Amino acid sequence: MTDKKRVLITGAAGFLGSHLCDKFLNHGYSVIGMDNFLTGSLDNIKHLSSNTDFEFIKHDVTGYIDFSGKLDYILHFASPASPIDYLKMPIQTMKVGSLGTHNLLGLAKAKNARILVASTSEVYGDPNVHPQPEDYWGNVNPIGPRGVYDEAKRFMEAITMAYHNFHGIETRIVRIFNTYGPRMRIKDGRALPNFFCQAIEGQDITVYGDGSQTRSFCFVDDLIEGIYRLLLSDYHYPVNIGNPHEVTIKEAAEEVISITKTSSKIVFQELPTDDPKVRQPDITKAKEILDWSPEVHRSEGFRITFDYFKSVLKA
Ligand code: NAD
Ligand code: UDP
Repeated sequence: MTDKKRVLITGAAGFLGSHLCDKFLNHGYSVIGMDNFLTGSLDNIKHLSSNTDFEFIKHDVTGYIDFSGKLDYILHFASPASPIDYLKMPIQTMKVGSLGTHNLLGLAKAKNARILVASTSEVYGDPNVHPQPEDYWGNVNPIGPRGVYDEAKRFMEAITMAYHNFHGIETRIVRIFNTYGPRMRIKDGRALPNFFCQAIEGQDITVYGDGSQTRSFCFVDDLIEGIYRLLLSDYHYPVNIGNPHEVTIKEAAEEVISITKTSSKIVFQELPTDDPKVRQPDITKAKEILDWSPEVHRSEGFRITFDYFKSVLKA
């Protein structure tokens, strides 16, 4: 058995989970990745197959997790994350946020491990407060199409706090705002994978509504550093991690067109139900508590992401 700190990462074959595996391995941890490939891919972790500090377990975390050996940390990142994915898989989405989180909190208690859960800016719903600080309670439609994701994540936060308060386990809650970068699934339905793939393939760029809704896009390396610092901090209340540079979706589409030099044109399509009109993190807490703020400018992050999608689409 290794002397290294042992970390379990759920959702390890997904976009963020696979980057977390890299981060913890690079910092000298022993990493166990767990995933059932619902939306993830072995391609995201195949570079780790010969790493003796990495172990992979194919498992659905909504079922009982039988786990031998010590465990120091758990990062629970398993869940569909693209609106298209969770609209197609509403029950799996609710189960992984509720039953899956319950199982992992039980495992954390049994192993005396610290657990960090991946919450989201979606807990603020279509916000009436802008930008969103952590003490804003949100404006969520529980029975709308996005409710399956938003309410699962709100339940995740509530049960995590309950395990902290009732059982005294060490918990961390990160509220992640829109993040992008290499290893996002091509055409996973989120705005940036759609725009980059459409631009590269010379198809129309599909902007929903009139494109005046805003998002604030964070490059994946910045997010992963913020999560790492939060896990190692002593703060158990939710912390927003995201890039506060807000942009309209139409502007983001135009930036993609400019970077990719595509001849594709923007077409406007119907805005999905309950699509949040604005979104921008207030990161005062992350700055104060974690001494963290994002460093990668969108132009740089978009260039790296463009190169990634080009390489995947060519392969
Ligand atoms: P992703 O779809 O790329 O990865 C999710 C991974 O979870 C996939 O590999 C999938 O196969 C796995 N998974 C799903 N259900 C599972 C189950 N029952 N058992 C085991 N594995 C399961 O998504 P992502 O963008 O990497 O998001 C990861 C986490 O971060 C999610 O919890 C998501 O809600 C949260 N998050 C992401 C963003 C973002 O911008 N990417 C924003 C807010 C929150
Ligand atoms: N969007 C868009 N075109 C697309 C995909 C998404 O205009 O092809 C819009 C979507 O309606 C939303 C924003 O882009 O307003 C961000 O969508 P995404 O699915 O990336 O994540 P969300 O922030 O909505 O969870």
